[in-house]
Amino acid sequence: MVSSSASHAKLPSIDPARFARDASRLTGVMAPAQLPRVAQELFDETGAIEYRIEGSVNLKGEPALRVELAFELALPCQRCMERLPVKLEVGRTLVLSREVEEVESMADEDEDVDSIPLVASLDLLDLIDQEVMLSLPLAPRHDEGACETAPGAEQGSTVASPFSVLSQLKRT
Ligand SMILES: [Zn+2]
Repeated sequence: MVSSSASHAKLPSIDPARFARDASRLTGVMAPAQLPRVAQELFDETGAIEYRIEGSVNLKGEPALRVELAFELALPCQRCMERLPVKLEVGRTLVLSREVEEVESMADEDEDVDSIPLVASLDLLDLIDQEVMLSLPLAPRHDEGACETAPGAEQGSTVASPFSVLSQLKRT
């Protein structure tokens, strides 16, 4: 296991049931590009992902993991394809259940709680990758009117150009 509570070290795989029972906690910072699926969406490799994973056992005796993320990364804007900084804080509780379907219907009342199958080994890097992917905007865009415009293509010049073309035609 990781000795220091915050590190850039590779994330371990955990036994989620034991992690929950022991009320273990893991915090750290990683680069967005370290996450395989997230890396494919990035505009560049800037930013950081702070994670905090805490194990607990809920009132029904089920092991649960609380995953909290605070991250900053850059995506391409879907309108202008330029850099769009994204800053988010998300948190979700994952209940580890042998009977996922049953728990899922109950968890519907609370969006913040989800269930995942109780597995013997859970890859935390994969888990964080998935949680970040779920929280990214589907169609990230700059605010209306805030998109980067190509040099010389400012608003107004497109309106003026037909006239300048006309005046040029008149001259010839
Ligand atoms: Zn844009």
